[in-house]
Amino acid sequence: MGSNQSDRPGLLPDSDTMWAAVQTKDETYLDAFVQGVSSTGIYCRPTCPSRTPKRTNLTFYKTWQEAEAGGFRACKRCLPSTPHSRHPHVLLAEQVCRLIEAAVDRPPTLSELGAAVGRSSGHVHQVFRAVMGTTPSRYAESLKFDDLKSALKTGPSVTDAIYEAGFGSPRRVYERAKDQLGMTPAEYRKGAYESTIGYQVIGCSLGFLLVAATEKGICSVRLGDTEAELRDGLATEFPGARLESGSPAAARVAAEIVGYIDSHRTAIDAVLDVGGTRFQRLVWDRLTRIPVGETASYGAVAADIGSPDGARAVAGACAANPVAILIPCHRVTRSDGEPGGYRWGAERKQALLALERETNYLDPNIISHSRLNRSPFACRAVM
Ligand SMILES: [Zn+2]
Repeated sequence: MGSNQSDRPGLLPDSDTMWAAVQTKDETYLDAFVQGVSSTGIYCRPTCPSRTPKRTNLTFYKTWQEAEAGGFRACKRCLPSTPHSRHPHVLLAEQVCRLIEAAVDRPPTLSELGAAVGRSSGHVHQVFRAVMGTTPSRYAESLKFDDLKSALKTGPSVTDAIYEAGFGSPRRVYERAKDQLGMTPAEYRKGAYESTIGYQVIGCSLGFLLVAATEKGICSVRLGDTEAELRDGLATEFPGARLESGSPAAARVAAEIVGYIDSHRTAIDAVLDVGGTRFQRLVWDRLTRIPVGETASYGAVAADIGSPDGARAVAGACAANPVAILIPCHRVTRSDGEPGGYRWGAERKQALLALERETNYLDPNIISHSRLNRSPFACRAVM
């Protein structure tokens, strides 16, 4: 994606792309590079809320360490040398998420949230919105609608589902359904039963690969020994769906993944349609930031997302990853350096890690912009 015009080919996006990212404060490039500003001697993340500097004053660096070596000091607003997941604003937003999640049926007000975290309600609102892209009250509402969606898929009727999800009356649901579901609850329920999933199976050096797609994006990437085993697994994972082989969308991504595995190409461009709990999505989002050729331990991932005791839960989220390779759970290993388990077989994990270690990819950094649908945390699959 994009040519490299920097003096370090293969490491930075091209300078027009980076300039565009700085001008639009594009979240996609949050961790992709930092820019030093010669007029101030300060370096920033592309997403820094400060005024956009002149292009002629910018020097781009892959890492904050390089910017410091170049004589720049870290900006106090965007904290470019602090890992994004530990940025105080992210931590505050997560704290607020947990407070809301703990009281979904009666979400705390802004001033209650402010009091609970020891900041003004205005600050909480502003920071939450910047990090999550939504307000605390909308976030609370989306949690209830998530419950409603599950209930609509399993409950006996729309009305039952509405009450099961904890809504006091259907009126509020109907008022907000267009925004939150994109359709009426009845249409949503019908769609859940009648959804079609297209898939493609192809052979590669790791055995067989199955890629499956809904209308919204890739919902499953599986590895196995036989085509039948992979099809059965898909049918078990999506019991209500109609499965159709030969989906063009799935075939395209399947070909790209095989290109990645066997021809050492890196461009995989996929939009993901995966569910998962909030914790799982937080883990999966973190996994997409482990660069190709590198690994992180379960414990390190847990610490990085703010639950230092959560190594076991991180391993669980890795095992639950529905899209192998696109969310690179194979890059998470045990703290002693052993590869550890893999849903698709320890041998395949070792093969993938060896491949990524040994291949000199043209552009190991930004390749693909996969994203988790409906996630407050945008997800990029960095292959
Ligand atoms: Zn800054």
